[in-house]
Amino acid sequence: MSDSNINMVAPPEGVVGEGFFATKLNDVVGLARANSLWPLPFATSCCGIEFMATMASHYDLARFGSERVSFSPRQADMLMVMGTISKKMAPILRQVYEQMSEPRWVIAVGACACSGGIFDTYSVLQGIDKVIPVDVYVPGCPPRPEQIVDGVMKLQELVKTESVRRRSSPEYQELLASYNIK
Ligand code: SF4
Repeated sequence: MSDSNINMVAPPEGVVGEGFFATKLNDVVGLARANSLWPLPFATSCCGIEFMATMASHYDLARFGSERVSFSPRQADMLMVMGTISKKMAPILRQVYEQMSEPRWVIAVGACACSGGIFDTYSVLQGIDKVIPVDVYVPGCPPRPEQIVDGVMKLQELVKTESVRRRSSPEYQELLASYNIK
């Protein structure tokens, strides 16, 4: 492959001079975080197959620095919930979320994870945001891999612009407290 096929991520805004480049810490940290989001796939049903396609060579999530799939919550940044979550499984999902270290982000992939989808029944959780905070919702039943990639890109935008202080802010603590998460 020639060098011309490699796209570099654009640097953040800053001041460029001979031999130096100055910018904000927030922007550098945001850039690094946004391009190294390690996913934890929590796949319970059909949407998980779309995730497999998203990871494979055609869509290649590695282009976004997310090829390192983590099955350990402690080494993951981006929890991707794909599939129907039963009420019985909700505490497990929540435990996985709680085991992730900060900063952590969540994508609800597909109608089931977003809202329970077509399963408006006594046993199915009507959206994972009933038990954990969600950053990005990807609609569809199932969403195509392009939509999942779009969801990851939307999350990247959020991550890039997130202040390094957000996780210790009163607003964020309030959000966690509303889910009874310490
Ligand atoms: S949203 Fe549709 S495709 Fe995805 S898990 Fe639910 S039923 Fe399956």
